[in-house]
Amino acid sequence: MKFHKYGDGKQNAPEVTWSKMYVCQVCKKVYKHKGNLKRHLDYECGKEASFLCEFCEFKCKRLDYLRVHVKTKHYKEVTQCLRKSDVPYEIE
Ligand SMILES: [Zn+2]
Ligand SMILES: [Zn+2]
Repeated sequence: MKFHKYGDGKQNAPEVTWSKMYVCQVCKKVYKHKGNLKRHLDYECGKEASFLCEFCEFKCKRLDYLRVHVKTKHYKEVTQCLRKSDVPYEIE
């Protein structure tokens, strides 16, 4: 999974001390919570990236990832949109 965390990357190394793990049988991704695995199976695993960034070529499989992307990468564009009309993204 190539979802880059912004920052120093220290948080990218997962501790393998989980007492219980949920493994996707298809792609062997490991999840700590059953709900996350379910979400992965429902929305991510084997699915095409269907959420497209309207500002660049970025696309991803989850709306929340796209929102994070837009917020961090296109903050300027979004705030310009805000002034114009209705905005598809909420800015917190
Ligand atoms: Zn999978
Ligand atoms: Zn973008």
